[in-house]
Amino acid sequence: MTNAHRRGGAVTAAGRFAPSPSGDLHLGNLRTAVLAWLFARQSDRAFLIRMEDLDRVREGSAERQLADLAALGLDPDGPVLTQSSRRDAYDDAIATLQAAGRVYECFCTRREIQQAASAPHAPQGAYPGTCRNLTDTERDERRRAGRRPALRLRADVTTRAVHDVLLGDHTGVVDDLVLRRTDGVPAYNLAVVVDDAFQGVDQVVRGDDLLSSSPRQAYLAGLLGLPVPEYVHVPLALGPTGARLAKRDGAVTLRDRLDAGESADDVLAEIAASIGAPGCRTVGDLAVRWRPDLLPREPWYAVGRDT
Ligand code: GLU
Repeated sequence: MTNAHRRGGAVTAAGRFAPSPSGDLHLGNLRTAVLAWLFARQSDRAFLIRMEDLDRVREGSAERQLADLAALGLDPDGPVLTQSSRRDAYDDAIATLQAAGRVYECFCTRREIQQAASAPHAPQGAYPGTCRNLTDTERDERRRAGRRPALRLRADVTTRAVHDVLLGDHTGVVDDLVLRRTDGVPAYNLAVVVDDAFQGVDQVVRGDDLLSSSPRQAYLAGLLGLPVPEYVHVPLALGPTGARLAKRDGAVTLRDRLDAGESADDVLAEIAASIGAPGCRTVGDLAVRWRPDLLPREPWYAVGRDT
């Protein structure tokens, strides 16, 4: 099956966890995965995993991440989708947008974008549209100067509202987002939208650092004639300094904890307590006892252990 999943005989919708295989998952990532699994289970959706390996790949990391998720009981209900096998699908989506006059070449360097985006009236983080209306001659000049273009979306809105199950209505910036990077790699926003639809994902549970991407993704889905999923952005895990949890914060991966003599259930129990369900030691316990209103709305200060 490609984009429908069976649980108990019925074809269901799906939720997902979509890690980038750039290293071992830490407690914050694992907590988001547990939450994605729980939201899917409790809404009778299938739970899927997608490896977002278009960028930042570390050898062997995907296998280790899947093993860690399985050790916590987070087995997917269908095959793991790997983005590097989906280049044709991203090309097709870009071709669809091109046919609708929605794509243009952008020759800006990162530096030029940063400078323009910090201009007084630029919406925060938005591409200012520098290359939107280049003439053929101007494009040729840039090519001759050795610049390789990225492809950008010609957006006709500047904001878009989305609804988030935990956070309510959120209106955020939509700009001429990158569809294909200068190095030819399909952009994150495009790949996510294309793949969520392909996998039948209609519930996106992820860290709230990605909330600001959801208006862009919802807008892009609409242009491609794809459904907009339900969004659930969950609070991030932070380290002791208040910065996003990271490896330097101590023993924060499952393997670190196993090496220190803890069991996978101990780690699950710590995650369970952090989402408002102390005493649960397995995802099975959580499926029965956890409810979304138990989830603290503040970031979680994860406790690292000395390595
Ligand atoms: N691959 C992204 C990450 O690991 C998550 C993408 C998503 O959930 O939409 O940050």
